[in-house]
Amino acid sequence: MKRLILCAALLLAACATLSAQAQEGPRAAPTVRIESGQLPVLDTTPKLDVAAATKGYLARVTGAARERSDAHANGGTWLALFNLLYGLGLAGALMMFGLSARLRDWAEERTHSRTYQAMLYAAILVTLAAAAVLPPALYQGYFRAQAYGLSNQGLLAWLGEFGIVFLLTLAASVLCLPVFYATIRAARETWWLWCGGLTILLVIVQMTITPVFIAPLFNDHTPLPDGALKTKITALAAANQIPAAAIQVSDASRQTSRIFAHVTGFLGTSRITLSDTLLQQGSEDEVLAVVGHEIGHYVMGHATRNLLMQGLLVLLGFGFAAWAFHIGADLFGGMWQVRKVEDVASLPALVALLGLFAVLILPVSNSISRAAEHQADLYGLNAARKPDAFATVLLKLAPTRKLEPGELEEAVFYGHPAARSRIETAMGWKAQHIAEADIRDMAGLGVIAP
Ligand SMILES: [Zn+2]
Repeated sequence: MKRLILCAALLLAACATLSAQAQEGPRAAPTVRIESGQLPVLDTTPKLDVAAATKGYLARVTGAARERSDAHANGGTWLALFNLLYGLGLAGALMMFGLSARLRDWAEERTHSRTYQAMLYAAILVTLAAAAVLPPALYQGYFRAQAYGLSNQGLLAWLGEFGIVFLLTLAASVLCLPVFYATIRAARETWWLWCGGLTILLVIVQMTITPVFIAPLFNDHTPLPDGALKTKITALAAANQIPAAAIQVSDASRQTSRIFAHVTGFLGTSRITLSDTLLQQGSEDEVLAVVGHEIGHYVMGHATRNLLMQGLLVLLGFGFAAWAFHIGADLFGGMWQVRKVEDVASLPALVALLGLFAVLILPVSNSISRAAEHQADLYGLNAARKPDAFATVLLKLAPTRKLEPGELEEAVFYGHPAARSRIETAMGWKAQHIAEADIRDMAGLGVIAP
């Protein structure tokens, strides 16, 4: 009995101690003596003149090189305008001369199945379109690229790739067009909404299969070559939670001397591709600066963001096409010999209207793209910490991109911010981080005033 009481007393005492501990107030934080000498001494921080550094970098591309860069970009703008007018002209001719209607009649004589009619119509139309597009494509993609020293390809190789693109387009059109027209017939007034949705679905499929099935038709993709650069890139990728296998090199030098890198894929096929030309022409720091930018796209999920934004524009585009087609058919329906939008002969008009819409909203789609590119630039600067290498690699893009376009030109035609503003971003970042040891010691366009 005594023992029992003793045990109970001990138990109570233990509980009392525990609850007393639980109720104890917060303890004082431990104090550690901080040596003020260990902190960066801010009042001797060097200053970086951002505007002067930016100007200094841009001034490295002058004379003939700058003229060539500007000429290439200006020519590109005119060619884009030509392509729009050429496409609208082709579609106009197919509609106004009743050629599209004759092609439909021909297909209707061959088969009673609407599916097969649409397939036959698609096969002939895509073949005619490819024949019409070949001459300007040959000039722009082959002869002009040769003249600017951007092409590494022979004529036969170029034609072979044009052929592959033609066959892919042909297959996709023959398979998809019957589905689109069946959708138009079933959905009636709301057809544009359903066809817009279908297009977004096709874009998702295309984005997902491109790195796995399409890109290998044109280039070989291999892991990064072993060496110091691979070690650094892999470390940078790992620090941003990207598996090393998600970074690959494309033998782009087969086609071009241009340097580039991009993120492709979707739904588990995402990867970062670096052109072998970038590895050949870029310094180690420049490659790391570019990889940092691409890691930014990857980590921030820009593919999904772009898909959502572009998806919205696709729906608006189909809405515009439906509205404009209605007006066009009221005015020219007799000449077109096209009865309604569900008539497969309406295709050239619909494609032309969608193309026109895409050009009209270029300022919107490009500003969405520029915003994402700016984010990736900042991410890359924070991740790779190579502002000067980023500036110099931007100069290496000069052969294909104007360094200092006009403001309106940039707003309408540029999917990336101009080199001028990107270098300014990099130098602004450098100025903010100049007190940090690795940045302060960095070589580069000095302009550091005491
Ligand atoms: Zn980018």
